[in-house]
Amino acid sequence: MPHNLFNSLQSFVAGPNRTAKFYSLAQLEKSGIGPVSRLPVSIRIVLESVLRNCDGKSITEDDVRRMANWKPNAERTDEIPFVVARILLQDFTGVPLLVDLAAMRTAVAKLGKDPKMIEPLVPVDLVVDHSVQVDVAGIPDALRLNLATEFQRNRARYQFLKWGMQAFESFKVVPPGIGICHQVNLEYLAKGVIERDGIFFPDTLVGTDSHTTMINGLGIVGWGVGGIEAEAGMLGQPIYFLTPDVVGVHITGSLREGVTATDLVLHCTEMLRKAKVVGKFVEYFGDGAATLAVPDRATIANMAPEYGATMGFFPVDDETCQYLLGTGRAPEHVAAVRSYFTAQGMFGIPRKGQCQYSTVIELNLANVQPSVAGPKRPQDRIDLPMLGSKFVELMGKPVAEGGYGKSADEIPHICPKDPSYDKDPGGYGKPAVAAWKRYPTRLGIHRDELLRTYTGGGEQATETIAANGAAATQKSAGASTETEMAGEHPTPDRVEGVLDGVFPRATVDLGHGDVLIAAITSCTNTSNPSVMLAAGLLAKKAVERGLRVRPTVKTSLAPGSRVVTDYLDKTGLQPYLDKLGFNLVGYGCTTCIGNSGPLEPHIEEVVTKHDLIAASVLSGNRNFEARVHQNIKANFLMSPPLVVAFALAGRVTINLDTEPLGTDPAGQDVFLRDIWPRMDEVRDVMRRALRPETYRKLYSNFAEQNPMWNAVPSSVGNVYEWDRQSTYIQEPPFFDNFSLQPGTAADIRGARALGIFGDSVTTDHISPAGSIKPTSPAGQFLQSKGVTVADFNSYGARRGNDRVMTRGTFANVRIKNLMVPGSEGGVTKYFGPPSPQPSPPAAGGEGRVRGPEGEQMSIYDAAMKYQSAGTPLVVIAGQEYGTGSSRDWAAKGTQLLGVRAVIAESYERIHRSNLVGMGVLPCQFLEGTSAKSLSLDGTETFDLLGLEAGLKPRQELTLVIHRADGQTENVPVRSRIDTPIEVDYYLHGGILPYVLRQLITQA
Ligand code: SF4
Repeated sequence: MPHNLFNSLQSFVAGPNRTAKFYSLAQLEKSGIGPVSRLPVSIRIVLESVLRNCDGKSITEDDVRRMANWKPNAERTDEIPFVVARILLQDFTGVPLLVDLAAMRTAVAKLGKDPKMIEPLVPVDLVVDHSVQVDVAGIPDALRLNLATEFQRNRARYQFLKWGMQAFESFKVVPPGIGICHQVNLEYLAKGVIERDGIFFPDTLVGTDSHTTMINGLGIVGWGVGGIEAEAGMLGQPIYFLTPDVVGVHITGSLREGVTATDLVLHCTEMLRKAKVVGKFVEYFGDGAATLAVPDRATIANMAPEYGATMGFFPVDDETCQYLLGTGRAPEHVAAVRSYFTAQGMFGIPRKGQCQYSTVIELNLANVQPSVAGPKRPQDRIDLPMLGSKFVELMGKPVAEGGYGKSADEIPHICPKDPSYDKDPGGYGKPAVAAWKRYPTRLGIHRDELLRTYTGGGEQATETIAANGAAATQKSAGASTETEMAGEHPTPDRVEGVLDGVFPRATVDLGHGDVLIAAITSCTNTSNPSVMLAAGLLAKKAVERGLRVRPTVKTSLAPGSRVVTDYLDKTGLQPYLDKLGFNLVGYGCTTCIGNSGPLEPHIEEVVTKHDLIAASVLSGNRNFEARVHQNIKANFLMSPPLVVAFALAGRVTINLDTEPLGTDPAGQDVFLRDIWPRMDEVRDVMRRALRPETYRKLYSNFAEQNPMWNAVPSSVGNVYEWDRQSTYIQEPPFFDNFSLQPGTAADIRGARALGIFGDSVTTDHISPAGSIKPTSPAGQFLQSKGVTVADFNSYGARRGNDRVMTRGTFANVRIKNLMVPGSEGGVTKYFGPPSPQPSPPAAGGEGRVRGPEGEQMSIYDAAMKYQSAGTPLVVIAGQEYGTGSSRDWAAKGTQLLGVRAVIAESYERIHRSNLVGMGVLPCQFLEGTSAKSLSLDGTETFDLLGLEAGLKPRQELTLVIHRADGQTENVPVRSRIDTPIEVDYYLHGGILPYVLRQLITQA
């Protein structure tokens, strides 16, 4: 029975002859709850969810009042409980969530109950998009070959996903080869409004990929979260986030001829980074915003993580409805979207003065210039004509200042009037004058080299990630997107032999600034037909003028949906892209996530031998050094037509205003302006190419259209048959000895410290995503299972296996445990169970009380010894514990090591809640107290008292420190279980057992 708090459950006309219910925000205002109609639209959508899901426990009337009275400028301390309508996953982050669901089913079956009672409580869509790699490019068969390799490499994960697909009704999988999650969301999954049990409400979601924000372009509130928040959302629990400031961006004017939506998003990224919108909502409004088409809005919204905002939101209006219709959504549904938002007073882009924002930034579209961004950060925008001179400047700049630190003799003059200026360093028909030094090589591998193993793609080392989640370093756009990139495809897949002809034979030369990768990639741009068709038109004109791409450039086209192929085919533009090497390589993230695949080996040899600063040009959104490809240091983001243009130019040391892209067969210079498509040309092909029925056809019957997916063998049934031999997927022990009764809060006594850490320990320190060291506990475990070092893959790829992930917890090679001064890596000191507790008898001295200096060993080994002795563990840390992007295994691994409490000076918000979500107690030292001030070194034992008296949010507890010399000290600490629902989570041992008990008792 739905509630009718404040008489807010009202009716509206949802369509012809159709009246439906909704929770009316206008009624909330009428009832005197708050000035709702002046709130930013994004805040109103969150408020609607808070109101509708108010249950008096996880969401209270106070939460509704607080949200309805959001103030543009106020101290932000309150957390908002937000229940989302659905969840979006990609394959890398989706597997561990499905593992947990499967484990819940196994637990229910073991209790003799119907496993089918375990279902995600909100719809979950998983799109397999992160695994395709550009092993093969520039040939007609590239798509098929890359897809075949993808299936071969990911067989174990795909088998498991196929089981999940048939086992759960509300867990849907979009198989490989269909598209990129955000573009699929935009074109197909998103609904605008949702109807459940006769009540309409706005479509909202969270996704496990930071660029989930792309959907904000369609008026849908949503953003990227970590695995545990997504899991909570999937199980119908609220996701908590700090009440945000809302920055209004007032858009006026219109884009000039020659300026693309990509130029606009690079402009916004630079502008909003400077405006420090980190952690805030950004809401676009004004006449200029209203004129932008939805794909342009989606491009701008997509890069919210790059400008640091939680969202980049455009309210629902006529353009939204047009887009929904144009992409094949049912007309009656689109009518309901319009009616719903009109009834809520939220239809249309607000104009100046209609909503109150925390601050307003002006953006005149007429000021946007053709641009690129890079070479290391997305916010470093460069006016297109300035790229060559900027590159030269960076070559000589010290590395610490974001440059490449090259000596003067390696850098030529850039002034074109200077006689030594080399106008045509690549040898495009003009003699080189001097300057940029060139290194010759022969391309093409011999038959006996075909079977060699090649590696390629981005090197996702995490060392460069900013320690502070909000901070940006010289090398980083912010920790969250960079950590995500490192986590989601941390090691490039090896290529076991290449096909003859994939690397064509040629004699070439290479130098600094050469473009070696030109990739039309990433949902950011491939979801936008205007820039994709512009790329096709530019390719056509280039081919017609006889221009060609040098064999040193690895060209690729990887759209985010098959609709792109359809319209490039229909308009006859794909053959021109093919002629320039932009053959279709796959439908997935590819180069955007660092899956750029190998370069021709002789090219790599020259680049590494001479430490060349080579370039990639890509239509993606991230460009941290070496992340696109391990040997490419300069990465420039740009629109798809500019990607084609720079592939033709072959270098970034060029001013495209004054220098030609190349020469035609008659020896005439061809400039960018000669082949740049006009806006009316782009509009004309768009009108001809985009049809709603195409979207409807291509987004139906995925299975039928995907024989490789159909051929993947998979188990069936409601309960997963765990394969004990699998090194990728294992049943996690979260429900071992599960009973229907929750636990009681018990004091923690006789605990040992597993680690004492300093400030800014990141989630990557706690649970690294990168490579697995052969000598580490995880490496040794894998070898004991017969996995060779070459096949280790990474922690990120093995996050469906708790055995690997628990061994990897605190195993980052950079983590410093202060219990072992001077050490780096996951080591600690083992002191045995506390005296006078008797040691358990064990062979080989196990469990024996160690001397005062303890025994040095890996954190995992020590944790296991303490567990077998029944000794509880604590972790002690400094400020900002758990900073960086949310990573579920940072909390899961902590729990599985046997850590009962973490006591830190302060926490990163999400990691704190994740610890509670896994049943680990976060506590905070009071002001002025720290491990240092207490002189803790790990020789102590600890009691944590006050829990038994009845746990309350943020209550004070007593940490009793028993020192090795027999002294005892009582220190007050604050429990950081912050809300009543978190008390429940903790008592139940975490969110998963909490929900499992609820489902079983309600069944
Ligand atoms: S294409 Fe890039 S931005 Fe889009 S989902 Fe893939 S990795 Fe994320």
